[in-house]
Amino acid sequence: MVIMVDSEFHEFYKKSVEERLRILKHAAGLTDEEIGVLRSSAIGMDVADRMIENVVGTCELPMGLGLNFMVNGKDVIVPMCLEEPSVVAAASFAAKLARPSGGFRTSSDEPIMIGQVQILGFKNAKTAKDAIIRNKKKIIAQANERDSVLVSFGGGAKDLEVREIDSEIGKMIVVHLFVDVRDAMGANAVNTMCEAISPVLEELTGGHARLKIISNLADRRLARAKATWKKEDLEKSTKGLMKGSDVINAILEAYHLAVNDHYRCATHNKGIMNGIDAVVIATGNDFRAVEAGAHAYACVSGKYKPLTRYYKDKNGDLVGEIELPIAIGTVGGATRTKPEARIALKILGVKTSKELAEIMAAVGLAQNFAALRALATEGIQRGHMSLHAKNIAVIAGAKGDEIDKVSAKMIEEKNISVSRAKELLKNR
Ligand code: NAD
Repeated sequence: MVIMVDSEFHEFYKKSVEERLRILKHAAGLTDEEIGVLRSSAIGMDVADRMIENVVGTCELPMGLGLNFMVNGKDVIVPMCLEEPSVVAAASFAAKLARPSGGFRTSSDEPIMIGQVQILGFKNAKTAKDAIIRNKKKIIAQANERDSVLVSFGGGAKDLEVREIDSEIGKMIVVHLFVDVRDAMGANAVNTMCEAISPVLEELTGGHARLKIISNLADRRLARAKATWKKEDLEKSTKGLMKGSDVINAILEAYHLAVNDHYRCATHNKGIMNGIDAVVIATGNDFRAVEAGAHAYACVSGKYKPLTRYYKDKNGDLVGEIELPIAIGTVGGATRTKPEARIALKILGVKTSKELAEIMAAVGLAQNFAALRALATEGIQRGHMSLHAKNIAVIAGAKGDEIDKVSAKMIEEKNISVSRAKELLKNR
């Protein structure tokens, strides 16, 4: 039987969370227990209700700690939030292996975001562009009038450029406003400025301003990290089963597949983002923005490329480097509204968005190295399996100590599946 669910709840957004839960319970046939799960919330329903629309619950993720990270000579504890087993362990392992050569060295650009204003309907592109450039100072001053707080911290609109774009529907002008957003991610700040300067841009060009929004390709806000993994430590990591130089060669073979094949490269970069997104989410930042920036940056050359680079140094040790845009904040957005995000920032001990972005870059590099090392040596599944087996046991209905027992048995048998877990549960 097909149950028809009505999704047109009249003025749902105006109702209290309790009223919404009552409506949802009826519409989706939820049990009291299921409503109880939605109602239980670590961040608090009132906080959640102020963050997005139509709130009926919250969705939690485990927060694990990435350990062993040494970044620019300083130890850092890294809160990571995600649902995927093995990521936290892999990052911690890679960070541990990097410690003998000093851990991660990082750097980053000033936090410059790009705001775009699209202008159409002007008579002459050159005249329009010249008028904007001539009035650059005035436009920048108008943008800065909208955010005196940002300006007081040394940020604000700093410069602009004008681009001409030929499109299927005719010529367009795009003004890029470069805004130093200091410790914010910056989207709201930049969008507000773009809207504020649109009337003057229309006046100067005789055209009309259509889009006024930030670009997520934050290529003026790059974060970088570098680390060296010594061959003797890599050999030890295989318990002597492989020579260190062989591990490095195998990692380089894996890396060069990503350089030359976008099917592999997508997975290579996904592995990087496993680590970065986990810290982005833990700190209440916008992971869609970071993802969009990362993948757009991966193809700025016109070809989709890895965000990391690997080579051997003169000792034959493995050097890894990462560079990507990381637009995140330590203020603004949900960084201060979500209580766990505030705690995550405290654990990290960071004050500025630059420090945070650099740690994220280090985590991305660690994550990628860990995946390449595992793929090049024992294969990825070994590390994944023990937590994965526990998830499978839960799916099969295991509870309490049954979870460990059933998953241990499945790992021993090398047969990890829901059907086997169900059999094991039945036979207990
Ligand atoms: P925000 O407006 O909440 O906070 C930024 C403001 O905080 C600044 O404008 C400034 O006035 C103030 N501030 C105080 N101390 C500061 C400091 N030390 N450094 C910098 N600013 C300081 O947030 P935001 O960072 O402008 O925007 C982030 C939010 O925008 C995120 O929630 C994101 O999801 C959302 N967003 C993203 C996009 C996108 O990525 N395309 C689009 C729209 C909105």
